[in-house]
Amino acid sequence: MKKAKATVLTCGDYRIQETVHRWLAENGYFGKSDEIIVFGGTRDLVKPLDDDHFEYLLRQLELSVEMHDPDEILLIDHQDCGGYGIDATIECGQDLQDDKRCHERFSALAKELIEARFPDRAVKCCYVDLPGSVSQINFDEASVEGREIEKDDDDDND
Ligand SMILES: [Zn+2]
Repeated sequence: MKKAKATVLTCGDYRIQETVHRWLAENGYFGKSDEIIVFGGTRDLVKPLDDDHFEYLLRQLELSVEMHDPDEILLIDHQDCGGYGIDATIECGQDLQDDKRCHERFSALAKELIEARFPDRAVKCCYVDLPGSVSQINFDEASVEGREIEKDDDDDND
């Protein structure tokens, strides 16, 4: 089996493309990791508009894990993401710190879900701002609060 360093899930927004790829290169991931690029990044894991969206994204992750046995799964969301903004799950155009806090809450949910589905993998979450910085989200910090987020359906999608 071929071995990937990581499976990277991120958004297709062109505004973060250079930043994400530069960060992946600087951190030894680029060219060694599978990339799953979908609009909204983690959104369809944590608050899909349709069950099919969840199933499709989970299938993509499963394929990468089955084929390339990554050590890590990296979830990379970003500022002003239209995938989250389409139904104002996270409003677009917010102040950076407010936007980041909202994304941290959803990233925490995505991390829990991915850890449950892929218990052998390390799961890391990052946040990209539009000026071009990438920060890894530290869930030990008190900033992750208010994790009770309304969801349209349960997590028991099979
Ligand atoms: Zn986006």
